Amino acid sequence: MGCRDPVDVFAENENVTLATDQPARICGGTPRAIDAFIDHLASLFPETPGPIEIEFLSPAVFPSESPCGENQNGCTFETTVYTKFLPAYHEIIHALGNTLAYSPEPGHPMLEEGLAHLFDATSQRAGPIDVQTVERGLQFVGGFSEFSDEPLRPAAQQFMYFLWTRYGSAAAIDLVLHSEYGVSLFEQNELFFRTTGSSLPELVEQYSQMAECSPFAARLLPVDCKEPHIAAFSLGWQESFEVDCRSYDAFGSDLGEVWVSRTFDVDAAGEFTLTTYGLDDNQGYVTMGRCDGGCDSNFRVSMWIGEQSIVELEPGRYVVSFRRRENIRGRVGLQIRSGVRR
Ligand SMILES: [Zn+2]
Repeated sequence: MGCRDPVDVFAENENVTLATDQPARICGGTPRAIDAFIDHLASLFPETPGPIEIEFLSPAVFPSESPCGENQNGCTFETTVYTKFLPAYHEIIHALGNTLAYSPEPGHPMLEEGLAHLFDATSQRAGPIDVQTVERGLQFVGGFSEFSDEPLRPAAQQFMYFLWTRYGSAAAIDLVLHSEYGVSLFEQNELFFRTTGSSLPELVEQYSQMAECSPFAARLLPVDCKEPHIAAFSLGWQESFEVDCRSYDAFGSDLGEVWVSRTFDVDAAGEFTLTTYGLDDNQGYVTMGRCDGGCDSNFRVSMWIGEQSIVELEPGRYVVSFRRRENIRGRVGLQIRSGVRR
């Protein structure tokens, strides 16, 4: 660390201190998103987590001001998150866990990373994860950087999603907080039995019976899914936003990306035509996914401006995000029209 601290406090409350050397890149809605995410996680933890610190650092100072290493975009050391991206839900989960007295050491990477990826909207890897890869992750005895080198993160996310949906958030979080680092999880079988009533081999067997589920579906978006509601869906709707980091409802910057989210409900299953519009410069796109989905609703749309597609939507709540690169502000919109009913 240099002798002069380039980071200033941007926002502070009893739960979190957000500091940065690039305040203009903290979008209008981001401090609120971080607060809402911490409140949500804290309500699920067995006891109230302690305060954490987030340092949002420009790429120029990141190597010298963070302990993360050259090629990383973020890491957590004790209760401080060092990150090039916001809102940094993934790293916040690591930091919150580290504030609890009985977990001064991180948990097993298969569980710890699994929980973090569950809330990480940037997980891009699709496709089902076979049970052999999951078993390799459960047997893993190395450190976190070796865990990242192996293609085990999607397996960790998938197995955690199974635990979370089958046994509930309390059991899943208890496993993360009490698991031991550097020891195969098959040697920590008592912990699984205590929290779920099943042995780890029994859980692996249950996992293998589960429907195939992509990481797109196996994740939770508690903040985006609470954004304002678009009404009158049965008639179809269209909505567009000037996606601008300075807006009160813009989230990011997440590695140069900024977005605004809205939710809507589908009352009856049917076929719908999606059309995107706005400033068409290959910088803007729309994503859409289910909030309450689960593996049986393996649905996610990602469309550049100017594209059209026809999709089948099941009843439920959906979240749509209007996204752009942060360097050029511009409008991003989506029109939905109901098509042939089945
Ligand atoms: Zn992580």
